[in-house]
Amino acid sequence: MKDQYRVVVIGGGVVGASVLYHLAKFGWTDVALVERNVLTAGSSWHAAGGIHALNADPNMAALQAYTIDLLSEVEAESGIDIGLHMTGGITVACDPNRWEWLQGAYRTFQTIGIDDCHLMGVDEIKEKCPIISTDGIIGGLWADREGYVDTTGTVHAYARAAKKRGADIIEHNKVEELHWKGDHWQVVTEKGTIRAEHVVNAGGLWAKQCGRMVGLDLPVSPLSHHYFLTETIPELEQIDFEVPMTVDLEGFTYMRQDKKGILVGIYEVDHQHWMMDGAPWNYGIELLQEDTDRIENELMMAFDRYPALNDVGISDWVNGAFTFSPDGNPLVGPVESVPNYWLACGVMAGFLQGGGVGKTLAEWMIHGDTETDAWSMDIARYGPQHSNREYIKQTTGQFYSRRFVMTYPNEQLPAGRPLRMAPAHDAMTAAGCRWGQSWGLETPLYFAPEDFVETPSLNRSDASPFVEAECKAVREAAGLLDITGFSRFEVTGAGAEAWLDTLFATKLPKPGRSRLAVMLSPEGKLKGDLTLFNWGDGTWWIMGSYYLREWHKRWFADHEGPDMILRDISDDVCGFSVAGPNAKAIMQSVQPDLELPFMGCGTFDLGLLRCKVGRLSVTGEHGYEIHCRANEHIALRRMLLEAGAGHGLREVGFNALLSLRIEKSYGIWSAEFTQDRTAAMTGMDRWIDWQKPDFIGRDAAIKERDDGPEQVLVTLGLDSPDADCSGYEPVWSNGTRIGFTTSGAYGYTVGQSIAMAMVDRAYAEPGTELTVHVVGIERQAKVLAPSPYDPDGKAMRG
Ligand SMILES: Cc1cc2nc3c(=O)[nH]c(=O)nc-3n(C[C@H](O)[C@H](O)[C@H](O)COP(=O)(O)OP(=O)(O)OC[C@H]3O[C@@H](n4cnc5c(N)ncnc54)[C@H](O)[C@@H]3O)c2cc1C
Repeated sequence: MKDQYRVVVIGGGVVGASVLYHLAKFGWTDVALVERNVLTAGSSWHAAGGIHALNADPNMAALQAYTIDLLSEVEAESGIDIGLHMTGGITVACDPNRWEWLQGAYRTFQTIGIDDCHLMGVDEIKEKCPIISTDGIIGGLWADREGYVDTTGTVHAYARAAKKRGADIIEHNKVEELHWKGDHWQVVTEKGTIRAEHVVNAGGLWAKQCGRMVGLDLPVSPLSHHYFLTETIPELEQIDFEVPMTVDLEGFTYMRQDKKGILVGIYEVDHQHWMMDGAPWNYGIELLQEDTDRIENELMMAFDRYPALNDVGISDWVNGAFTFSPDGNPLVGPVESVPNYWLACGVMAGFLQGGGVGKTLAEWMIHGDTETDAWSMDIARYGPQHSNREYIKQTTGQFYSRRFVMTYPNEQLPAGRPLRMAPAHDAMTAAGCRWGQSWGLETPLYFAPEDFVETPSLNRSDASPFVEAECKAVREAAGLLDITGFSRFEVTGAGAEAWLDTLFATKLPKPGRSRLAVMLSPEGKLKGDLTLFNWGDGTWWIMGSYYLREWHKRWFADHEGPDMILRDISDDVCGFSVAGPNAKAIMQSVQPDLELPFMGCGTFDLGLLRCKVGRLSVTGEHGYEIHCRANEHIALRRMLLEAGAGHGLREVGFNALLSLRIEKSYGIWSAEFTQDRTAAMTGMDRWIDWQKPDFIGRDAAIKERDDGPEQVLVTLGLDSPDADCSGYEPVWSNGTRIGFTTSGAYGYTVGQSIAMAMVDRAYAEPGTELTVHVVGIERQAKVLAPSPYDPDGKAMRG
């Protein structure tokens, strides 16, 4: 062990070993992995080693595909046998809705380039997996890139390959303390103190404790998980191939062959947390006592699914713990408040995701950004409220129990709720509001009568008539929407304007004006679609998506300027928007002097309240965003509802907004706008001020403007009477895949299902005939001219 390294990776499980390997591979060879015990001594040694290409989250599926492709490379490079068995895999569906979902999922996988999969009937399932009972199975999805690995071999292979590239591995050496010394870390270990530029927390079961060493309370918890191994199954001795990795979603089990027996793992509904504050330091290479009573139901289903289990003995039980974050995705990346401290933890499927996690983190550390959008595993998707122990318990437990349960696009899950509520929440609930949640804040979806219960569905929801009525109100009279669920940052100080001018690619709004503003990375990738307000008194606001708060804050902190003060005022400010042809009359009835041009903004007295008002609306109508103090929220709602009573004002939710905005071809973050895309691809380049001499991403944006992007964002009209796109559906031209959808909704004003899609430039002309798979069924589609509703923008400007 040296006393100085560029990077110290804490933890020798599969994730730490992969991070070490990728750092060395990408050129940082002065790196060391420090392991408390021996390599694999956390969750890794006793994992089932299963690898699946498929994941309901397309970003995670892509990460898994990378990992699976990497495994044989690492095996070859290290010279260590990783016991790779690429048996292929089957996911079976026993419920009509699940079968419908699987057909849609198959198309999603095509979108992200996982082409080596196909839908299969019961006969093919039986042929490929002779030991399965196909009772109740409707169909399945086959994937070539599935199978299993030897877990210990895999960790050692990553480690050996890293060592060959110059990395050090120090076992039997616990990291005890971490101290930031201004420009480096002092890593206090059992074998001495190491000076390191960067530290990576890949502490697995102990990640929580390794976080606490630097004052972090990470949203992660271990849960226990069972699998069992059987003695030899005679039927398997009769066949000359291995049965595929098989996932029975409705049975809550996965199965793979193990020698001539099988391994069956269970995601039980009755989950069990284990050591929520992290494993004890003296926890060794040991197992937990199996608890068969708790998993009895799932076991009975497994015995029905694989009847041979009734005739052979169970040779071994494994009940071990591994870690989960609230949404089940890893916790990766830099932490805003702790310099040069990186996370690679909360990885619940290290063997199928660890490669991708290692690659992503190494890119981030070395290049300052990742090649592909890392949002779904970025630690910045969590905030301080997510460190709450009960929140972690409920959400990680919900994720575990629902690991094999299908979540419908219109389904709202209960864990960790309600956490944050705007002051008018109860009054809105009494008015029939149905709630979703964004980053812990309850957000209105739509308003419906008390006795209405929405049916979870992959197709258009039965709440659609309520949403339609809300859209109609906005288009024909006025709608009132709670806009508490946005982030708001106040920027002041002598250096504020100069800082904003460099941060944003957009021309800054003049005093009393607001503007949509684009933030780019130096490589020209999108980093934000925000709204800038220049209140005219030296105060600026940056307004954005509520759930991106921590992420934006980290970006702002990384690009801090002199003489400016940035305050996150999101928790102090609430608001409502009023939009529709009658909006002006409603606003002028509470403030006759209120006269604002389109995109104008100012401070006004509305009744007893002093509010900040902007004249803009995502609905495409003449609209106002009204911001008040949190304790004035109830009064603001009451006043606006009273003022709007004679003008057809109706409360609306975000489901209506999603429909209204897509009729205007307005993109939103996480759908049309992501860190994978550029301004030119998404049309956001129309907000770039090309005359500005300097802003982040300028050179890259100019290059792309001159070269032209390969794919562009278009609006599609679909012939789809019963379902709308939800994103990642493949788009075809005469059997060739030429793009994918980014989001969809029914456009109630234009009377058509609308989607937005990234397509190859050659297919972007309005009128181009295409097809799109929606919920697995191919539908006719046509490229529409942008903004199918009110293309000239007369309604919103007028
Ligand atoms: C029963 C079971 C079945 C599973 N099946 C699968 C499967 O089929 N496929 C799959 O992909 N995943 C599976 N998993 C999950 C998989 O095991 C984990 O995702 C993976 O092992 C996590 O790896 P890790 O490196 O993050 O953590 P760990 O393996 O827990 O490694 C963390 C390491 O950090 C070390 N460490 C911690 N703190 C310190 C410190 N302060 N100083 C020095 N060292 C420290 C620990 O000793 C440990 O070795 C399964 C897990 C279980 C329990």
